[in-house]
Amino acid sequence: MPASSSEVQELLAKLIAFDTTSTKSNLELIVFVKTYLDGCGVASTLIPSTDGAKASLFASIGPSGGGIGLSSHSDCVPVEGQTWSSDPFKLELRDGKLYGRGSCDMKGFLASVLASVPLFVSRELKEAVHIIVSYDEEVGCTGVRPLIARLGSDLPRPRVVIVGEFTNMAVIEAHKRIDAYRTVVTGREAHSSLPQNSVNAISFAAELIKEIDRIGAAFASREIDDRFDPPFSTLQVGTIKGGTATNIVPNTCEFHWQVRSLPDAEPDSAQKQLKAYTEQTLLPRMQYVAPTASIETQHLGSVPAFLAKPGSEAVALALALTGASATSTVPYGTEAGLFEEAGCPTVICGPGGIEQAHTADEFVATAQLDACMAFLTKLAEKLSS
Ligand SMILES: [Zn+2]
Repeated sequence: MPASSSEVQELLAKLIAFDTTSTKSNLELIVFVKTYLDGCGVASTLIPSTDGAKASLFASIGPSGGGIGLSSHSDCVPVEGQTWSSDPFKLELRDGKLYGRGSCDMKGFLASVLASVPLFVSRELKEAVHIIVSYDEEVGCTGVRPLIARLGSDLPRPRVVIVGEFTNMAVIEAHKRIDAYRTVVTGREAHSSLPQNSVNAISFAAELIKEIDRIGAAFASREIDDRFDPPFSTLQVGTIKGGTATNIVPNTCEFHWQVRSLPDAEPDSAQKQLKAYTEQTLLPRMQYVAPTASIETQHLGSVPAFLAKPGSEAVALALALTGASATSTVPYGTEAGLFEEAGCPTVICGPGGIEQAHTADEFVATAQLDACMAFLTKLAEKLSS
């Protein structure tokens, strides 16, 4: 029998109660999941992080070979600076909506998967279900990488992976790539009454940032891929830090920026253009005054784009399970591109909507969890018939 809504909600309440903000350990949650699976007679493999503070989990139900991976991440974004109407780590039901940090992104999917385990176990599955739980998704999809590296060696390689990120149960076949950068501008300090002898790092950083905006505007006018909203690559500066006092010309300024590229765009195009602008336009002016002035840009990491292959088994399966007739794309990054790169046909489909993710008063609608349970129940039927 499929689990009831209240069983799913009970599991979700337990998952929400673990504060698994990416900066913190997720081990208590992982031990909870492992213990729950043990109770269902399902063995898990834990893949610890190098410092041992976190772990991902892989568990299989059913025969060896192939199988359908159901993938979630255990971490969530911080609540700091957000005003919540209720305790973010205590699941609260109001008007058909379940409020709590991670309810939508993406413990709602994990709770649905766990609630379906007794059903998977009770059926004689002809093909396996693999439960995958990762960490550090929210900080660059780094935690799942050691697990993916073991697929096909000491862990089975799923035939298909379903990443249950919030899509309102729509079938998602693509998303953009993300590249993160840090740029450090080093100028020359001076008393603010003598700016002619100085190189103001903040002013030059401002020129660079204007150039980033110009590059973004050029993408917007040049690229068009109507599958995406917006239909072009985008870039933006997220943080900036510089200076110490108004009477000192600042000698350093640092900012972080990000590029979200269309799957078929050249991912380092923006970085190359910014480098050319730096070398040809800014550095000569800066070094004329201060020969040691510099602008250094460091690539901090990337999340690969996701693009399902034509005729993808994963997309076909998700369409069959949801009854949808069309696919779409999402504007955010996920672990899907990493699974696809590792040779597992992947699709993104899960409960909840992007409007609720990462916000104060994050919620998942109970109707979304019901739809997800129907999806997983149909999967159990399909794998056992
Ligand atoms: Zn997520």
